[in-house]
Amino acid sequence: MHNILPVLTVLAAHRVAVDVLCPLCKDQPKTLDHLMKGCAVVVPIWQTILMTSTVSGGGDDCIAWMCNTLSKGDAATKLRAVAIWWSIWRARNEIVWNGKPWQLSNVVNEIHRNIEAWQSVENVPLPLDSPSHA
Ligand SMILES: [Zn+2]
Repeated sequence: MHNILPVLTVLAAHRVAVDVLCPLCKDQPKTLDHLMKGCAVVVPIWQTILMTSTVSGGGDDCIAWMCNTLSKGDAATKLRAVAIWWSIWRARNEIVWNGKPWQLSNVVNEIHRNIEAWQSVENVPLPLDSPSHA
């Protein structure tokens, strides 16, 4: 599953001329693990919105961590985790492809808007809920 998303290091490995530094912190090579979980810019988002301190560690496997979060978390945790991933990924794309600057407040606001919008859908089970919770 790794290397499925075109983060800069994957593009560089395929000889696409790109800057491989993380567009958020501009300090570390941008891998999917770094971007989604280990970047010093996104760690406070996880810690604040997901209310967890288990996010830090740039070398950790973000896919495994997310799968663990989704398999063990309650519905609210799952919803928050997916909203954070979605918004970080969208913000990253805006930086890389459209040259828009990272604005933490905009990303956090989008996360909260998505959480509220997804929670407001009545009588529809959360897509990540197991059938036993439906
Ligand atoms: Zn970074």
